[in-house]
Amino acid sequence: MKILVLNSGSSSIKFQLFEMTERRSIASGIIENIGDGTAKAKIYSDHGATQETAVIRNHQEGMAVIERLLNQSGVLQDIGSLDAVGHRVVHGGETFREPVIIDDEVISAINDLIPLAPLHNPANLEGIITVLQKAPQTVQVAVFDTAFHQNMPPSSYLYALPYELYEKYRVRRYGFHGTSHYFVAKKAAECLDRPLEQLRIITLHLGNGSSAAAIKYGVCIDTSMGMTPLEGLVMGTRSGDVDPGVLFYLARQMNLSIDEIDTLLNKESGLKGICGVNDMRTIMQLADKGDERALLALEIFCYRIKKYIGAYSASLGGADAVVFTGGIGENSAFIRAKVCEGLEYMGIEIASEECRRQDGIVTLHSRDSRVNVLAIPTDEELEIALQTQQLLQKKIAT
Ligand code: AMP
Repeated sequence: MKILVLNSGSSSIKFQLFEMTERRSIASGIIENIGDGTAKAKIYSDHGATQETAVIRNHQEGMAVIERLLNQSGVLQDIGSLDAVGHRVVHGGETFREPVIIDDEVISAINDLIPLAPLHNPANLEGIITVLQKAPQTVQVAVFDTAFHQNMPPSSYLYALPYELYEKYRVRRYGFHGTSHYFVAKKAAECLDRPLEQLRIITLHLGNGSSAAAIKYGVCIDTSMGMTPLEGLVMGTRSGDVDPGVLFYLARQMNLSIDEIDTLLNKESGLKGICGVNDMRTIMQLADKGDERALLALEIFCYRIKKYIGAYSASLGGADAVVFTGGIGENSAFIRAKVCEGLEYMGIEIASEECRRQDGIVTLHSRDSRVNVLAIPTDEELEIALQTQQLLQKKIAT
């Protein structure tokens, strides 16, 4: 069974082809700079890597290039020969609590959610409509970034704002990175050889965008991102939590417009705002050389995560596992150790040396630790493929 996973952005399409009988990715790639004159297309497969530049004016042309590259790599005849296509869709609002097979109604609902994700949902829809035009018979599934968080209780998802804003404008916390939080929580349960339904897990997705989630017996009960992916942890260029009073102050003092404040918080804050650089590897190199701002950025980044671990431990009534993932969480032993420093009071005891298993999972906790601390590589594309396969099998069975 072959499933293609698509992550369509406004000027890019990331793709990954899975052979589900082996649960294995057999090709992956990206088309970048769509509509920019010269687009770049890359594909990696068992048969090697290919890269080319071409004029790709829109997503339709992008899909045609993806189809050709997959065909030339010998992994797929054409889009029509796929068993299904799984799409990452950023915002499912309150409409979608789980993945769905895409039909006209679903397309219209994703369209209705555009005000909540004005950059992402239109791009995701482009990908869906392109496949629909190219291969109308192919089953398409939408997997939402927000869906895993849809079981949060109102005490977690409501802001203390006039209730009418929730009723009329859907102002509430939705959370993002849901596919990743769910994937690593499942993996943690597998790794600990215990059912997910018996575990209290704090998952930390730390990358350019970062978020934490509190998962109680398989259900997400709180997460750090809010109505938009701006709330919560310190990120590459996003501020995370900030007193909203700061915005009024800046608007008045600096005469900043709404758009300027939006840019400031989303693109010029976070790690970049503190030390001028958003890439964690570069920040760590600067910190090694004694750069004070880089050291400060590291302190603030780790302290904010530690605060969320404390908060979520309270929400969960204690934690059985803390799981690090994302580019930073998976790769930086330094950040992991710094985040866990001083958490012995809650049963986190870190071993003197980390232990890496063959499958890439890292165990950090010591034998005496009450809490398991793991670093688990996330694989959102595989999770989308698995959820797509499940729906396809259900459809075939009925
Ligand atoms: P992501 O958005 O999940 O791809 O993560 C990107 C972030 O991971 C960037 O800030 C990278 O600098 C960071 N990263 C990747 N590898 C490492 C590493 N070995 N140590 C520290 N940070 C890393």
